[in-house]
Amino acid sequence: MKKMEEKILSEATVLPGGVLKVGSFLNQQIDTVFLKEIGAEIARLFEDSGATKILTVEASGIAVAVAAGMAMELPVVFAKKNMTSNMTGDVYSAGIYSFTHRVEKDIMVSKEYLPEGEKILIVDDFLAHGSALTGLIDIVKQAKCEVVGCCAVIEKGFQNGGANLRNRGYRLESLAIIDEMTDVSIIFREDGFTSLI
Ligand code: 5GP
Repeated sequence: MKKMEEKILSEATVLPGGVLKVGSFLNQQIDTVFLKEIGAEIARLFEDSGATKILTVEASGIAVAVAAGMAMELPVVFAKKNMTSNMTGDVYSAGIYSFTHRVEKDIMVSKEYLPEGEKILIVDDFLAHGSALTGLIDIVKQAKCEVVGCCAVIEKGFQNGGANLRNRGYRLESLAIIDEMTDVSIIFREDGFTSLI
C-alpha cells in the first residue's frame, strides 16, 4: 500500500533496537481517515478469503481489526493480555513473547467467542518476530477454527516472523514491508522505494 509507505516515511521514527514508532497515526494518536483506508485495503485483500470473524490482540491491534471488521462487516474478537473480572468461563490461551517489552505474556480468548468451525482472519498492527501472530494461530487451532489469512499493517521483513509464517503455508499480507531500517533511511520491499527520513 503505497500510502502506508508514504505515511511511514513522513511520520514514523526509528527507535533503538529496530523499533518503529508510529504513535502519530496508529499506536497512540489514530488518524481515523487513514484508518478507514487501512480497513478498506484489508477488506480488498481478503474479500475472497471466506472469513467469518477477525481476531487480534489488545491493545494496538484493536483499531486496525475494527476498521477491517467494519469494512468487511465481520465481528472482531480480541485476545486479552490480562484475565479480567468480566472474563467468565473457559478460555483458550497461548504464550507470546514481546521483543519490544522483553516480557513473556499469556494471551486469552473466552471460548464462547470462538465457536468451532469459524474462518478466522488474524490482524495486527506489526509483524516482527511473529510471536503475537503465532500465539493467535495457536488459539484458533485450539478452538478448532480455521486460519484463512493473516494481515499485518507493517511487517518488519528484516525480522523472521513473516518468512516463518509464509514458509508454514499461511496466507500473509502486509500493507508495508520494511526490509531495512536505520535511523536515517527505510527500504521497503518490492519497489525498493528508499528515502531519507
Ligand atoms: P512479534 O510478536 O511479531 O515479534 O511482534 C509483534 C507485536 O509487537 C505487535 O503486536 C506490536 O504491538 C509489537 N511490535 C513489534 N515491533 C514493533 C515496532 O517496531 N513498533 C511498534 N510500535 N510495535 C512493535
